[in-house]
Amino acid sequence: MRETLVLNASFEPLAAVSLRRAVVLVMQDKAVVERAHPGLRIRAASVDMPLPQVIRLSRYVRVPFRRRAPWSRRGVLARDQHRCAYCGRRATTVDHIVPRSRGGGDTWLNTVASCAEDNHRKADRTPEQAGMRLLRRPFEPTPVDVLLASLTDGAVRGEVAGWLGASA
Ligand SMILES: [Zn+2]
Repeated sequence: MRETLVLNASFEPLAAVSLRRAVVLVMQDKAVVERAHPGLRIRAASVDMPLPQVIRLSRYVRVPFRRRAPWSRRGVLARDQHRCAYCGRRATTVDHIVPRSRGGGDTWLNTVASCAEDNHRKADRTPEQAGMRLLRRPFEPTPVDVLLASLTDGAVRGEVAGWLGASA
């Protein structure tokens, strides 16, 4: 997947995000395109914009000083862009890969976004026991990842602003 560099409003580089997230940021007027891939445009029903290589946030965000992002359910859903780790459809729940009843914890690497059906089907089993396969490996997002995800995910905004102590 193509990645887009995100600059803070002050032009300092923050992180790379997926093209999809970059486009959403621009469409929501949360960022502007600073540099585009020459000659390439995104055209859809309501969109016609250059393919962003570098975008810049419209508002300055204070960069998180924490090294690690605290785990939260909403953070997991935002990290996984609300897509189920088992089937790719819209996810509204968080699944523990190793169930809590078997000693699995609330950690970034043990949790994934999941649709309600798959979460129910997997129940108190590991993916292997349930015969289910993860479409992608969970990862620990950096605080900046969580911050950028929150900009395109209204649900976590307040929470992130809370732990950053910033008005992002
Ligand atoms: Zn699913």
